[in-house]
Amino acid sequence: MLHLNRKFPQALEKDEMTSPDADRLKALLPAEVAQRVQSLRLAEGTASVVIDATGLSVQDRAGLEARVAEALQGAPGVADVRVAVMADKPSRRILAVGSGKGGVGKSTLAANLAVALSRMGRKVGLVDADIYGPSQARLLGTEGQRPVAHESRLVPVASAFGVPVLSMANLLEPGQAIAWRGPMVAGALTQLLEGHWDNAEIVVVDLPPGTGDVQLTMLQKFKPAGAVIVSTPQDLALMDATRAIELFEKSGVPIVGVVENMAGYACPHCGEVSDPFGAGGAEAAARDMGQAFLGRIPLDIVIRRDSDAGTPPAAGNGPQAEAFAALAARVSDWLDSH
Ligand code: ADP
Repeated sequence: MLHLNRKFPQALEKDEMTSPDADRLKALLPAEVAQRVQSLRLAEGTASVVIDATGLSVQDRAGLEARVAEALQGAPGVADVRVAVMADKPSRRILAVGSGKGGVGKSTLAANLAVALSRMGRKVGLVDADIYGPSQARLLGTEGQRPVAHESRLVPVASAFGVPVLSMANLLEPGQAIAWRGPMVAGALTQLLEGHWDNAEIVVVDLPPGTGDVQLTMLQKFKPAGAVIVSTPQDLALMDATRAIELFEKSGVPIVGVVENMAGYACPHCGEVSDPFGAGGAEAAARDMGQAFLGRIPLDIVIRRDSDAGTPPAAGNGPQAEAFAALAARVSDWLDSH
């Protein structure tokens, strides 16, 4: 993307940076701006500067032009300053987290997967596309924070876990119900997805359960690079998961794989693991459908407690964090190879 504040001479010579004028003017810039100078030349009293703003937040980028102009204006030989700020559009990919039905832990999975990917060093954002039942503000502890708008686009709310988030929950009054029809939902979803995701390379999208309007809009308008399907081990949940997989496949969205959530119950008193919903159902179902199995997350009181408290277990140091890190590693490998 190229932001020009005025008509800008495009042809820039390679040796412009090494001219004495360029060195002299560059020395006038604040150090953190000077190191971003891509080219600088002085011709007939006009200093032309190209700044590389890759990786800067939208707020930091906004002040760059003014800072350069201020530093160079009035320097010997400079009558006019022209600044171009360039920012590489990051190749951002949407990773959808879906499920065939509600209550299987999809939102919990989406939040913790995002946090675990971020802990691996990935730049991740999170969109809560569950317009009618948003829960990401609670899961990431951002309840009550309001996103601001910049240039008519929403700036995601920063969470304490390295993952910025946009959720309807941050835009509504607590307890406010939404009674919207399809087109309004689609409009809201567009606002969330077209927010200032800046340098996020992955935007994890927590889709509402099922195969309705929001999912279709999402898949048609913002095609995900891949979809992670969450299921519990019961047969019924697995049948629903199969339908979700079909929806993605019909829309040409590749399935990253299936996660089995609430798999095995670790007794908090004796540590014995039991399988209230059966064991291995999702793995077998994934295999039958020719899909990858991404792993199991146990039914664990710590996951529920920490999630409710707005401190995602993936950000901690317990076995729960390890389970989410293992899941994130598989998803990360998939992203690298697709
Ligand atoms: P969904 O998005 O599929 O409707 P949620 O993520 O909202 O499901 O989870 C439903 C409930 O189950 C929440 O109270 C959540 O804390 C809890 N939960 C999710 N996964 C686990 C798990 N592995 N262990 C314990 N509780 C879980």
